[in-house]
Amino acid sequence: MFYDGFEKTKGDDNKLKDLKENRELLVYRSLNARSVLDEEALICLRQLEKGFQGEKYFEQWLKENGGDGIVLSDLLFEISGSFVQIDSLFIKHDKTYVFNVKNSEGDYFAEGERWSTPSKKEMKNPLLQLKRSEALLTRLLQDKSIKFPLKPFVVFVNPNFHLYNAPMDQPIIYYPQLNRFAEKLNQKRGRLTAFHDMLAKKLLDSHVEEYPFLKLPGYGFEGLEKGIICPKCIFLYTLFNNRNFICSNCKTTEPLLPAVLRAIGEFRLLFPEKRITTDQIHEWCKLVLSKKTIRKILFAHFKHIGRGRSSHFVDKKE
Ligand SMILES: [Zn+2]
Repeated sequence: MFYDGFEKTKGDDNKLKDLKENRELLVYRSLNARSVLDEEALICLRQLEKGFQGEKYFEQWLKENGGDGIVLSDLLFEISGSFVQIDSLFIKHDKTYVFNVKNSEGDYFAEGERWSTPSKKEMKNPLLQLKRSEALLTRLLQDKSIKFPLKPFVVFVNPNFHLYNAPMDQPIIYYPQLNRFAEKLNQKRGRLTAFHDMLAKKLLDSHVEEYPFLKLPGYGFEGLEKGIICPKCIFLYTLFNNRNFICSNCKTTEPLLPAVLRAIGEFRLLFPEKRITTDQIHEWCKLVLSKKTIRKILFAHFKHIGRGRSSHFVDKKE
């Protein structure tokens, strides 16, 4: 489990749109380290982690096995007032593959459009989600006057997934079929041209960073445990010897600067509306006893504005 997303700031020029933890997952991870989540939130966190692992696996798989093409992961578009999230797009010379990636595990039964577990717990039918994605994406391309075929698939990346009574004629790729799918992807060779780069660029330009209706558990600054989270095991550091933080859980040591910058990133992620001040960050980082140290870091990495009580820090670019 890694925890490297907190340094992400606005304007991150992620040219090819590699997969990163989204805000929802990062907030849940942070709250889990700093408070006691209820059962519902814990289930949500587990699902987000699992989905992320599945998408990460598939992104890597596509890059290694898909041949020439442009991989764009985790895109969010707003099309005529509707939001659509796409796990993965793969632009090949002759078409764009649209993947809805599922990391579901265990046995499921298909009865028509209804998919459920043996205990009758229903799973959202990913084929219906896929159809919606395809329809909205088609509209997006039309709006941009781009003619290029889309080929949608649901991909089950977990080897422990099984669907009984699975429909035969549906665009589904199961884990054991991945190798054959790779052969198909590599059968027809063709060069990527400026057109494909333009298509990728237009799609990235349309990508919106954050779903505005995220449902997050309620939290506030006061209610969260302060300190800096160990990036390896996601426990709070317990020791700081004026140079390094030391994790008593996994024995990781980390120098002051990257740890404090990550904690500031996490603070901004959790509290985008709060001002960054020396006092606030000093309290947030907890183990760094010297306020002067915190102030020095803020001055070096952010732009200082205001005076006296309104003094605070913003991005250097702002
Ligand atoms: Zn640790």
